[in-house]
Amino acid sequence: MIKAVSDRQLQSAQAHWLIFSRDKILVPKSTTSLYLGGWSALEFIAHHQASIVELPPLSEHHAVGAPVYIIDTGAEHIEQDNWELTSLRTLLAAGTDEQFNVLARAWQYVHFLRTHRYCGQCGAKMEQVDWEMAMQCHQCKHRVYPRISPCIIVAIYRQNQILLAKGVRHKDTNMYSTIAGFVESGESLEQAVHREVEEEVGVKVKNLTYFDSQPWPFPHSLMMGYLAEYESGDIVPEEGEIVDAQWFDIDALPDIPPKLSIAGRLIEAVLNKHKGG
Ligand SMILES: [Zn+2]
Repeated sequence: MIKAVSDRQLQSAQAHWLIFSRDKILVPKSTTSLYLGGWSALEFIAHHQASIVELPPLSEHHAVGAPVYIIDTGAEHIEQDNWELTSLRTLLAAGTDEQFNVLARAWQYVHFLRTHRYCGQCGAKMEQVDWEMAMQCHQCKHRVYPRISPCIIVAIYRQNQILLAKGVRHKDTNMYSTIAGFVESGESLEQAVHREVEEEVGVKVKNLTYFDSQPWPFPHSLMMGYLAEYESGDIVPEEGEIVDAQWFDIDALPDIPPKLSIAGRLIEAVLNKHKGG
C-alpha cells in the first residue's frame, strides 16, 4: 500500500517532512519549524521501519512550495536525541494558517491510511491509489476516500450578549466556547444547528446566517459555522456534555478559543456585529 518514493525525491532538500508516531508528531527540539529537512528525515528512515507517503497536493491555493512527505511509524514509540513528540493540537495552536492546512490534511491522510487497510466490502487488502487520495480493494475494486464528518458550530447572540458553554474537556479551566456537534445522517445543516443548540443548552434560536467553514482534524471533521439569534428558553446545560453555559456580556468574556479556530472567529464576528450596530 505504500506509494514508492524515489531516492532522488527522498534526498530533495526542497521537500517538507512530517513524522507521525501514534497521534503525535516528531519535531526537532528548540526549533519553531514544523518540518524536518531531507537529511534529518533520511537519518530517521535509516533507523526506523516506517512507511512513507507523499501528501497529494490539494490545489495551487494550498501549495507550500515543496512536496510534503509523511512518515508514519504507526504505534511505534519513538525516542530520538534532540527530537520530541508533540501533540497536533499544540502545533495547530502555535502555527500559521499554512501550517495548519498542511498539518490538518496530513493527519487526516495518516488516519485514513491506518484505518482503511482492509476492504469493508470483501475483507481483502486495500491498495493506495496513485493519483488521488483514495484506497482501492485489489479484489472487488471497492474504492474509499477519506471520511469527512460535517459538524455545525454556532455562536448564539442577543443584544450585547453571547451564549458560551464550557464542555467537559475544559471543566478545570475557564475556557468557554460556541456550541458544536455532528450532523446526523439525513439532516440538513440548519436542522443540526437547531437540534444541537436545544440538546446542549436548551434554548431555541432563529435567523441563522452561514458564516464560514474550517476543516478540523480531530479526526476528520468539517466545521460549518453559523451565527444564530436567540429566540426563547432558559439555559439548561446537557448533562455529561456541558459543564456550564452562560450569557456573557461581550465586554466581559471568559477565556475563549484562539482566532485561528473557527470558534474564535465566530465569537469575534458577534463582537463586530454589536460594534457595527
Ligand atoms: Zn474488496
